Formats: sequence, C-alpha cells, structure tokens
Amino acid sequence: QPPKTTFRRVLLKISGEALMGNGQFGLNPPTVERIAREVKSVHDMGVEVCMVIGGGNIFRGLQGSAQGMERTTADYMGMLATVMNALAVQSALEALGVHTRVVSAIPMDQVCEPYIRRRAVRHLEKKRVVIFAAGTGNPYFTTDTAATLRASEMACEAIFMGKKVDGIYDKDPVLYPDAKRYDRITYDDVLAQHLKVMDASAIALARDNKLPLIVFSLDEPGGFRGIMAGEGTYTRVV
Ligand code: UDP
Repeated sequence: QPPKTTFRRVLLKISGEALMGNGQFGLNPPTVERIAREVKSVHDMGVEVCMVIGGGNIFRGLQGSAQGMERTTADYMGMLATVMNALAVQSALEALGVHTRVVSAIPMDQVCEPYIRRRAVRHLEKKRVVIFAAGTGNPYFTTDTAATLRASEMACEAIFMGKKVDGIYDKDPVLYPDAKRYDRITYDDVLAQHLKVMDASAIALARDNKLPLIVFSLDEPGGFRGIMAGEGTYTRVV
C-alpha cells in the first residue's frame, strides 16, 4: 500500500541539468531512469502528475546569444532542447509502464502533441503523465515561467521543484556549512532577498496566482514520494 497524500494534481519542474547525472552535458540514461522511478512512485499514489523539464543540459538561449547568435534564435534552440529532454523522460516512464503524453508549445505533429489546454487536462484525468515541452513557446522566457503557467492552467495544487538541495537556504549550503534552510518563505521575500529559486517573472506569476511552490531534493531516493506524504525536509514558498 503506497503512503497517503492530500495532493490530487501537481506539477514537477526539473532543470535540464538534473538529467545530466555527473556528466557535463546532455543526458545520463541511469539518471533519467531514476527520475522516472521517482515520478512513477508518486503517480502510483494516485496523484495526477504533469512535468516541465528545462533544457540547460543541452542549450541555453543566453549562452547562444553570448556567442553572437540572435537571442530569439538561440531561445528557440533552447526550447527545442526541452523537447529532447521531454522525449527522453517519456521513454523512461513508458519503459516503467506509465502512460504519458508529451505536449509541445511549439507544434511538431510527427514528434508529439500540440499543447491544447483542455486536451492536456483530459490526459491528466485519465491518469497519464503529461510532459510539457518547448517551454512557453516564446523567446525571452524560461521553463520556470512555463512551469508556473502550465501549473496554473492545469489547476495544480502546487509546483514541486526538484533540486540538488532540500530547499531554499539563506546562502549556498554547498559553500557555507552554517547556511540556514527556510521551512517556509513568501514569494515577496524570495524576490526581495534575490534568492535563486526561479527567475523573477516566474516567481511573480506564481505569487499572483497564489500557487504554492515546494522546493525539495530530487537526489534523495524516495524523496518526491516522501514529500507528497508529508515527510522529509523542504521549503514551501507561498
Ligand atoms: N526557453 C525559451 N522560452 C521558454 C522556455 C525556454 O526561450 O518559454 C529557452 C531559453 O533559451 C532557455 C532554454 O530554452 O535558456 C532552456 O530552458 P531553461 O534555461 O529554463 O532550462 P533549465 O535551466 O531549467 O534547464
């Protein structure tokens, strides 16, 4: 019997780097599989799960534009990178027997479905894991904004942000052993203190839509399921 949770529908946001494992670039298949298992374990609790995955392990718009590329073109490349990551996670989930749909903000019919809100909601109701690809479909945005937007559109109860550390600290816990973790913090304080959680536009959107954000460690095996059952440590942003 899986542990119980009060959550019915959530969005999991992970960065592209979360799929790299210890590598410097791209995808590490065992890591992708491990994350798929974490997602499955929560899905097995009866929770409707959707996901937004970044693209930073493959390409970032800012990095392209720093090398002389036009910013918008570079951002489109970044969005395409998120599609690759979405397909990799889809494949890993389906290998575990979880039904999934990749839906893209940029239509590419041969590869995945286009994003249609009502259709995505229907997939969730049918207990399919929906992976939102290509960010918001617009340059100058990030997948953090896409996560906030999609979570609002899908009426998710919270965004779960899987990180390498178990929450938001007042300073970098890797560099400072005396760093303090917040159990709970407001979006306004995150903005005022310039805490690196999501970019400012994503934070403002989440705040305005009253969408709680839960920052937790995805490196902890069973961590995602634990948090769903009310165990473990994390930071809740409200
Ligand atoms: N991107 C974009 N619009 C969006 C989402 C993403 O232009 O709505 C581009 C942007 O260039 C970004 C890249 O896709 O740098 C990868 O996304 P992100 O940096 O958010 O990935 P993460 O840091 O989460 O891996």
